[in-house]
Amino acid sequence: MSHVYPSYNRAKLAFEYGEGPWLFDAQGARYFDFGAGVAVNSFGHAHPRLASVLSDQASKLWHVSNLYEIPGQEALAQKLCEVSFASYAFFTNSGAEAIECAIKTARRFHFDQDMPRSKIISFEGCFHGRTLAGIAASGAPKMVDGFGPMPEGFARVALSEEGLAEELDEDTAAILIEPIQGEGGIRTVSDEFLKHIRKEADRVGALVIFDEIQCGMGRSGRMFAYEHSGVEPDIMALAKGIGGGFPLGACLANERAGRTMVAGTHGSTYGGNPLACRVGLEVIDMMGEDEFLPHVNKLAGHAAQRLGGIIADNPEIFEELRGEGLMLGLKCKIDGVAFVEAGRQNGVLTVPAAENVVRLLPPLNMTIEELDAGIDLLEKTANEMKAKL
Ligand SMILES: *Cc1c(COP(=O)(O)O)cnc(C)c1O
Repeated sequence: MSHVYPSYNRAKLAFEYGEGPWLFDAQGARYFDFGAGVAVNSFGHAHPRLASVLSDQASKLWHVSNLYEIPGQEALAQKLCEVSFASYAFFTNSGAEAIECAIKTARRFHFDQDMPRSKIISFEGCFHGRTLAGIAASGAPKMVDGFGPMPEGFARVALSEEGLAEELDEDTAAILIEPIQGEGGIRTVSDEFLKHIRKEADRVGALVIFDEIQCGMGRSGRMFAYEHSGVEPDIMALAKGIGGGFPLGACLANERAGRTMVAGTHGSTYGGNPLACRVGLEVIDMMGEDEFLPHVNKLAGHAAQRLGGIIADNPEIFEELRGEGLMLGLKCKIDGVAFVEAGRQNGVLTVPAAENVVRLLPPLNMTIEELDAGIDLLEKTANEMKAKL
């Protein structure tokens, strides 16, 4: 028997090494990785630049704790603030911890104004990680059942103006939303709705938190997904793509929210250690290069065109293509999980999501030829499934 918690439903596959968008098993069979560790390996597997800074830093200094100054953490915070709305960053080891920090920051902001507020409004279909606060925000029975009592002060509403109106009031500390829902089935929130949220939050004095853990860091074709709408949050959670595979997360905050998190209000032993920050800095540098975002958009345009063709050729299997940039979802008419499994047999890895959506979250730095090789495998899978219907 396995001595690992039985909490995951794993595919019977294990890999020996990876190279760009490809993973190789012990027998040398290769798989095209459209999952990228669930939107984590933004530069594919074993990128030479990331491998080199990691091993260089590993031979100098890994960890000192936040009892001391960490110049790499300072530099990474500065870079993140330069490229975003933010004035402050707090570093974590995961997305769930970044969300935890975001919620604490929002509540602390109101406490600091001598007007404590607790309510965090989230939206149906959301995913904010697996801490008690994260599952309380999500409210989904499969995440919550058996883990009560839940922390108080969370209200989940329909993803609509009417839904928001039901809960928004002067006790609302913050509205928490993914500009593009990931686990929820690659649901892009409209620019109008994000603008509405900003306006309504300002009206009642609530803050806006964006969860860009999955959709941020270049994945949507912009550095951050909020840039598509022009709506800026007060607080934003990042993780996944920011470390390129190294465990790293961040909670960013603007001046008025971040300055309230004074000494002693929050902390993390590992968060922002020299090793993680060295990798994070390299990721940000690579994403800051002139050709990076145009390349993501070129790949995204090509993917959308080819996938559109595959959907048109297979109306029995697919309903529509969702998403932005390289955060894509194939909404299926057949069982999405069956497509994911059939793809694996053909050497292509995808990730299921809610609403029968198959997620494509490939590395952002592939060549067009690599992308085509991956899409060829998706096409082959679709054709085989159609023949079996
Ligand atoms: C993955 C994810 C999280 C949780 O991140 P972990 O690193 O697994 O804790 C939270 N929010 C969103 C939108 C995510 O995609």
